[in-house]
Amino acid sequence: MSVTLLAARQARAVPALQAKGGIVVAGGTLAVADLNHGQGPGTLIIVDGLGLGRIEIKGRKVILGAMVTMAQIAHDRRLKFLHPVSQSIGGPAVRAMATIGGNLFAPAPYGDMAVALLALDAEVALHDGKALRKLPLENFLKQRGKYEKSLVVSVSFAMPEANSFRYVKAVRRKPVSASLVTIAAVLPRKAGKVKDARIAFGAMGPCALRARKSERALEGKALDASAIKEAADLAADGTAPADDAYATGWYRRQIAPIHLQRLLGA
Ligand SMILES: Cc1cc2nc3c(=O)[nH]c(=O)nc-3n(C[C@H](O)[C@H](O)[C@H](O)COP(=O)(O)OP(=O)(O)OC[C@H]3O[C@@H](n4cnc5c(N)ncnc54)[C@H](O)[C@@H]3O)c2cc1C
Repeated sequence: MSVTLLAARQARAVPALQAKGGIVVAGGTLAVADLNHGQGPGTLIIVDGLGLGRIEIKGRKVILGAMVTMAQIAHDRRLKFLHPVSQSIGGPAVRAMATIGGNLFAPAPYGDMAVALLALDAEVALHDGKALRKLPLENFLKQRGKYEKSLVVSVSFAMPEANSFRYVKAVRRKPVSASLVTIAAVLPRKAGKVKDARIAFGAMGPCALRARKSERALEGKALDASAIKEAADLAADGTAPADDAYATGWYRRQIAPIHLQRLLGA
């Protein structure tokens, strides 16, 4: 199979190339593997030259360019709270290549950074060839097939309050493997009571999803044993995890409440 490589010079040119059947290759950890297995188109669009590899922090606002890698995040001291997330993704070789943009398209059980970004209530900026648009990550993930012909440019979010971000990824083999269940939570508190909790799950459906019933169970309460138990009991509601080589969907639904209970009680 012959492969054509096209180096994009402008973000706005990429969607037209995608419409002609090309696919963006970022780190290539998934896209090139597909190509090696004879899947995917023969045209790869290289987006290295578009300046999308920067991490910008302005006040509390964090902007991660789509080409920012997991290794870059793991080395940025300003993003210390995200280090456990980036370090839970593949081994060092994968982290050196794997990007934020690619993680948003990664099929379950992959997409651990997307889980964290969903709990952070992130916004995605993408170019559809005509204009740069912004949309909530949750909407993007729910319909990501629709955005396959757009270029993800960046993801932005507000830095969480100190000690309010929590993350766990349950795996069969330490230190890293694909997820059995991934959970990220942002738990802001006011006068000791949880206010606007956000909890996101990975590997519990085709893409990262919010655990809204568990979030509501915590609202306005102290993070005590009874509130935590109530939230954990609702964890698997509305989820549809797949069976794969790592776990069955049934098993994932059994363990999700246990891991959420431990994470909230930590
Ligand atoms: C051995 C191994 C272990 C892994 N372990 C994990 C893990 O533990 N957790 C995890 O989450 N993932 C894991 N992955 C999957 C993968 O490495 C990551 O999800 C990674 O973030 C994907 O990014 P990438 O830049 O390599 O994407 P690519 O392979 O370059 O692209 C993936 C898809 O996203 C599209 N895409 C990429 N960037 C853009 C953009 N800016 N705009 C539009 N479309 C875009 C591509 O067209 C393609 O369809 C693993 C992969 C391997 C090979």
